[in-house]
Amino acid sequence: MYDYDLLVVGSANADLVIGVERRPGAGETVLGSDLAVHPGGKGANQAVAAARLGARTALLARVGDDGHGRLLLDSQRAAGVDTVGVLVGGAPTGVALITVDPSGDNSIVVSPGANGRLTPADVRAATSLFHASRVVSAQLEIPLETVVEVVRNLAPDSRFVLNPSPPRPLPPEVLAACDPLIVNEHEAKVILGEACGGGEPEDWARLLLAKGPRSVVVTLGGEGALVASADGVSRVASVKVRAVDTTGAGDAFTAALAWRLGAGESLAGAAAYAARVGAATVTKEGAQRSFPTAAEVAAL
Ligand code: ADP
Repeated sequence: MYDYDLLVVGSANADLVIGVERRPGAGETVLGSDLAVHPGGKGANQAVAAARLGARTALLARVGDDGHGRLLLDSQRAAGVDTVGVLVGGAPTGVALITVDPSGDNSIVVSPGANGRLTPADVRAATSLFHASRVVSAQLEIPLETVVEVVRNLAPDSRFVLNPSPPRPLPPEVLAACDPLIVNEHEAKVILGEACGGGEPEDWARLLLAKGPRSVVVTLGGEGALVASADGVSRVASVKVRAVDTTGAGDAFTAALAWRLGAGESLAGAAAYAARVGAATVTKEGAQRSFPTAAEVAAL
């Protein structure tokens, strides 16, 4: 009855990556490696991750009428994502300027560009996509007022999943719609603020649940995840792998969880599958190019 298992509403960025021996100081120029350009942004990443697993996926996003926008559209289509909801124009495509030093540390400057022009009116104009989608997921690399409008436009029996990244305090209306709210440790601390105190992740999960979401997932990197709902808090074991690059693990985890929930799995069951997807993702370099197929997850 639904055309899409998952509608992702969110950002699409071109990641421009240069390796450097050291970062320039003010007024200084340093030479770096050849430029690498990769499709990225949390919305685009989630959509590609879900489609690669086999989910029928659509993306609602905005890119510029430029080469980076075409790169992002191409990568979505190559993964099998329906791009009917990708709007073009209004500002340059969002860009992340990334320098990587020899120790592997990143410094990143983000220009939101067209992501910042994805408006509540764009959401209202996409009503047919919302009504065609079993699960809707969002992140916070687009304006918060746009995410609020997403919550207001959900079909009555669809499910909403939010990864509040980059984190900021959320209005009660958005929190109440989340089923689940998915956070890593940093995001949990920002959303809880003072309230998280010196507590343990189990405490954060309970405190976050008390803020209104119907369920909460706290991801813990190599330690797996916690799921919390009215039924209580339980731990999801991580899958032991040799991690080479954790970029995109949270995006792949969220996409997989959203898809399996829509397929009718329990929160704990969907999170266990998502943990396998996150683990497979960290065994490869990069973001979108590291996302596994369902067969690769099964073989893990
Ligand atoms: P984020 O990328 O948002 O910080 P995490 O690092 O918590 O998110 O990763 C998301 C999920 O991916 C984790 O809950 C876990 O299931 C999986 N994962 C991440 N890092 C590893 C790792 N080193 N080994 C195994 N699984 C991992």
